[in-house]
Amino acid sequence: MFKRAILVIIDGLGDRPIDEFAGLTPLEFADTPNMDKFARLSECGMMYPLGRGKRPASDIAHLAILGYDIETYYTGRGPIEATGLGIEMKEGDIALRGNLASVDNEMVIKDRRAGRGSGSAPFVKELDGLEIEGVHFFVKPGAAHRAGIVMRGKNLSDAVSDSDPNEPNKPVQTVSPTDDSKEAKFTAEILNKFIATSHEILQGLKLNEFLRQDGKLPANYLLTRWAGKYNGVPTFKEQHGLSASCIAGAWLYKGIAKYLGMRVLNIPGATGMANTDLEMKFKIALGQLETQDFVFIHIKAADSLGKDGNPQGKKAFIEKIDHAMKLFQRLPDDVLFVITADHSTPCELRAHSADPVPIMFCGKGVRAGKLDAFSERTCINGTLGRIEGKDIMPHILNLMGRLPLTGS
Ligand code: ZN
Repeated sequence: MFKRAILVIIDGLGDRPIDEFAGLTPLEFADTPNMDKFARLSECGMMYPLGRGKRPASDIAHLAILGYDIETYYTGRGPIEATGLGIEMKEGDIALRGNLASVDNEMVIKDRRAGRGSGSAPFVKELDGLEIEGVHFFVKPGAAHRAGIVMRGKNLSDAVSDSDPNEPNKPVQTVSPTDDSKEAKFTAEILNKFIATSHEILQGLKLNEFLRQDGKLPANYLLTRWAGKYNGVPTFKEQHGLSASCIAGAWLYKGIAKYLGMRVLNIPGATGMANTDLEMKFKIALGQLETQDFVFIHIKAADSLGKDGNPQGKKAFIEKIDHAMKLFQRLPDDVLFVITADHSTPCELRAHSADPVPIMFCGKGVRAGKLDAFSERTCINGTLGRIEGKDIMPHILNLMGRLPLTGS
């Protein structure tokens, strides 16, 4: 019987046939002896992260895969990112992504990623703690030009539009309510006042004076997007009864894990890019199994290489993952080993797609189907059939003998 589980999510792993690979996908074309060996010992199948015909974003796909009802717990990326940046959220808070930008006197955006050289910290610390008509603002720096913003106060709503037009050389947008409630109207008003006050403060910063003197664009505007209300989220332990650690390099996935109350480790050499130290990640994951019931490992670069339209790079990275996976060849019998992806990122599309992804549940006692490879087309013939993201945690709990009985 399994007592512990490892879940590996290879971001954007799924793909479509590539001409230069004789019509095979990067996963099919790659030399992956370790994953293929696991597949022979696994219950394999195809997984639709959010269901058929849904093209998932990574954050929502992860919540579904980790066993959270997305209708209840996914209110946008804002709360996940803010938690990841260390802001303790309370029920009713509204969280948003902030992007430092540079605007001219006509409020036209000249640089959508201002301050990325120095990082956003010296700029956004001046905005942290502002209060506008009883609403408190918490602002914490994120990577490069990014920041997390949390609004705390009475009668707030996340039904507000983005001030970020998402393109350069466009004027900034006024935040508007996106429903008819007075809460949305109030939140939009307060947010517009906060953005105007922030602009005034940022304009006057010494740091921006220096940038102007150097002929550089100042970081004088905080664009907002992805408003989401925090409604409270049960921890992974409360939700599934399993203590859990997260092994990830990319900050969004660490944020998701923090949001779900997992233990989040800082891994030396885990960069979230193709140069990441996978062996270090896997060794630390194996160490976590000593104390934790569940270890979630996230591997980012397969998705980035798909978005770059780089099948050769994606294939090489998959081979790098497979090589490091030799560390999982001799797992104890009580460890269930699961590999899947959060969505497909076909090189041809350079974007996420709704194509299902392969999944395998490997370990002693699963109904193995003796497939000879782990891939998009072999796993269709696996013993698991087709499942959705929300089926994964129940299946893991079932294999661990922890699923509650339905009925009496
Ligand atoms: Zn993803």
